[in-house]
Amino acid sequence: MPKRRFMKSRFISIALTAHVDAGKTTLSESILYHTGVIRKAGRVDHGDSFFDNAREERARGITIFSKEAEFPLGEKIFTLIDTPGHADFSAEMERVLNVLDYAVLIISAPDGVRGQDLTLWKLFRTYRIPVFVFVNKMDLTDRGREEILTELQKELGEGFLEFPENTGSEVFLESAAMLDENVMQAYLEGETVTGQMLAAAIAERRIFPVVFGSALKDQGVDRLLELLSDYTQEKEYPEAFSARVFKITRDSKGNRLSHVRITGGILKAKDLILADGQETKAEQILKMQGGKTEQLPEAEAGRIVALTGLKETRAGSLLGAETVSTRPLLVPIFSSRILPPEDVDPHRLYDILKSLEEEIPEIRIETRGRDGELHCQLMGEVQTDVIRSLLKERWDMDIRFAPASIVYKETITAPVYCAGLYEPLKQYSEVHLVLEPLERGSGVEAVSALSEDVLPRHFQRLILTHVMEKAHTGTLTGGEMTDVRVVLVNARAHAKHTEGGDFRQATYRAIRQGLMKSRSLGECMLLEPWYSFELRVPRESAGRAMTDLSRIAGSFDGPDWDGETAVFCGRAAVSAMQGYDREMISYTGGFGRLALTFDGYDRCRDEAAALAASNYDPELDPDNPSGSVFCVHGAGYYMPWDEVDANLHLEKAERQEKEMPLEDAAQTAVPASERAGAAQAGMAGRASGSKEGRTDYLGAGLAQDRELEAIFLQTLGANRRSDKSSRQNRGGDSLRKPEQMVPGETRSIPEPKKQFLLVDGYNIIFGWDELKELAAVSIDSARAALTDILANYQGYKGMTLILVFDAYKVRGGQGSIEKYHNIYIVYTKEAQTADAYIEATVHEIGRKHRVTVATSDGLEQTIVFGEGAMRLSARELKEAVEECNADIFERFTRRETRLENRIGPQKEETGTPGD
Ligand code: GDP
Repeated sequence: MPKRRFMKSRFISIALTAHVDAGKTTLSESILYHTGVIRKAGRVDHGDSFFDNAREERARGITIFSKEAEFPLGEKIFTLIDTPGHADFSAEMERVLNVLDYAVLIISAPDGVRGQDLTLWKLFRTYRIPVFVFVNKMDLTDRGREEILTELQKELGEGFLEFPENTGSEVFLESAAMLDENVMQAYLEGETVTGQMLAAAIAERRIFPVVFGSALKDQGVDRLLELLSDYTQEKEYPEAFSARVFKITRDSKGNRLSHVRITGGILKAKDLILADGQETKAEQILKMQGGKTEQLPEAEAGRIVALTGLKETRAGSLLGAETVSTRPLLVPIFSSRILPPEDVDPHRLYDILKSLEEEIPEIRIETRGRDGELHCQLMGEVQTDVIRSLLKERWDMDIRFAPASIVYKETITAPVYCAGLYEPLKQYSEVHLVLEPLERGSGVEAVSALSEDVLPRHFQRLILTHVMEKAHTGTLTGGEMTDVRVVLVNARAHAKHTEGGDFRQATYRAIRQGLMKSRSLGECMLLEPWYSFELRVPRESAGRAMTDLSRIAGSFDGPDWDGETAVFCGRAAVSAMQGYDREMISYTGGFGRLALTFDGYDRCRDEAAALAASNYDPELDPDNPSGSVFCVHGAGYYMPWDEVDANLHLEKAERQEKEMPLEDAAQTAVPASERAGAAQAGMAGRASGSKEGRTDYLGAGLAQDRELEAIFLQTLGANRRSDKSSRQNRGGDSLRKPEQMVPGETRSIPEPKKQFLLVDGYNIIFGWDELKELAAVSIDSARAALTDILANYQGYKGMTLILVFDAYKVRGGQGSIEKYHNIYIVYTKEAQTADAYIEATVHEIGRKHRVTVATSDGLEQTIVFGEGAMRLSARELKEAVEECNADIFERFTRRETRLENRIGPQKEETGTPGD
């Protein structure tokens, strides 16, 4: 094996962290001023600060989205990462911690250590981040340095040490020696205590240097910079390129920016790199300075830059050789329904929210139920305000939120055998699984205990991938299933008839059947989020605190006495702690302090109440069927979950002990907490030309797509299925669920031949320069422009025009079809690509009708051509369109101008250079 080679980097990343209002923004500006990055320090109060340029931040006076800026100090170059100050944005905080070398914790001298500081301190400890402390606002207090140092020690622990101008003094050396053995040894042996020794003690978190000052009055800032310059260590990095993404944003032009820390090697602009295992081009490398950007030809290890061109990354993505992935400690535990304004198209709102999710992944936008209700997950209530203002600011849209509720999860308490079968006409697949309970916090695992003689490896892998690709819906409240090992024990595919998508159907149905069985046996368990807490109250409030905690906490210790302060530590359900914060502040007269840290999911304290409140009926959840689809006399037939076992084709298999974890499947597995991020690629997904899903969905989607049926009824004659109902009606109406019915075999398609034009929407958008440019600003506008253009075109030509867009979204993932004036717009089903849909449609009608497909996609063209369709390239379609209506593009331009006007306020001084 070749020896790993290392390179030293002069880039050091650093973040200022603090409780809101402690002076983080003021200190950031002062630092940038001192290091010559900005000319005058902006004052937060005047609203012109360098970092806080988003209006939302200005309005609230807090910094929500972290931005970067570089500043030089001697030989070193620091990247300052501004971080969110509010507890609700701590998920972003954690992502920043992942790419951080040092932190500066700002404590406001008059206020002392506050609850948020305890939370931050815990995170620093977990992520092993060395910390410098800046005690700010010394001009506003009479408190002495000793008193504040003592408080730091009391609240946060050992290691705080003021660094005087002269670090050679006896007093200083003695204190330093007490904290670090190497220093101690040098000190006792009369050797010089070097800067490196101190720097090492700081890097190892044994010493936390403290500087007192005032950011506003420019006191102590110089000293802080000296310490950073002298007592930080340069790091070594491997020579092979690697990086990790800690944030996704868009600039004012809509360009997608992946903010990364380079953790190895050197990246050059336009390099082909691996992003989560997929080869992608890093188009531009941008150095971020506050809101401004500067293009770099290359960036070396240690540096923090933003990359354009990466389409599918998410916060947490790994680039190049980077392999260490981290799971967030903090997850959203509240959920709220979004109430869209009446005049807003839900698809458009969905797209917008999804693009916001790229910036704030933990908000996890999802649709629920038949009506496609939009829901959003939150770390705290203040996030709703932020989302609301962002939508108002950027898109002039007023949304409201329903009151937030707790996000529950569900698990099982005993193993359960389950099966799913998917056998619509000419297709067959059957999957048998055992679900086994796992420890709290384990998430979902998928393994196979099935011999490859029974089912080939690639099918097994496919099934395990289906297990891991989505959050499975529990049967108690519809919460996500977790802490379950899914073991594949038997499965069969009919070689000729099985499409990839069939296994997906069978797998989902099997899991759901298992959860229904567990529910009926009383073996499901509801889980709710828990906090670990530390409550500190004055002596006179200790009795009250104790009484409260015995009522609301799951468990606690204490009081331990810290002088006159009673300290209680324990665990409590998030639901129990809601609002307690305020109550406690009031009964302690403002002297109490409560630090809450998310501590995973655990048994729900009051399951009965939660169940009653949720009002979930698993039998009436159309998106999560628990029954199977059988084929009877040539027709698809839905069989309820409790009848499935008696009708399976395969024998119930013994659960073998030997488990074969499928590495490949495991790699595909996305932890539940990151799933939303993974799915978000949808918006720009089409442009990347991903071909996955082609085989999975080819054909399978078409046969039972209710909504496409509507097209055929419209365009192919309404009598096509008229004799079907009697044949399908085997078990009486009560058993049938129309949405799961599968249409039967031959379709009598009436003559004469009709003309169809199928347009691959995103493909055309990215094939036409004008639309592509528009898409860079807003994909919605590009889509609307294309829709208008095609509606006009159809008006001239008169064919049936179907415009197809990929949608990884849309009303519970069922796909949808809309009529827009004279054309049809199809949004494909969850994970179904437009070209798969088009292929399936061509396959269905290509030989009977004159079908033309407009796309520039080479592979797709060959396939549809083979099925008897004609093709039209993006360019040819454009020519045809231009020919028939010269005035269309004039409209398009008008639309663009309107759009620009709307985007106006977001403009930056220097934007990202275009592609
Ligand atoms: P952030 O919320 O932590 O970013 O805090 P800001 O930098 O926005 O500061 C909050 C308020 O405290 C602003 O009104 C500042 O002008 C003020 N401030 C910040 N530092 C000092 C200081 O050292 N002394 C005084 N007197 N005020 C300060």
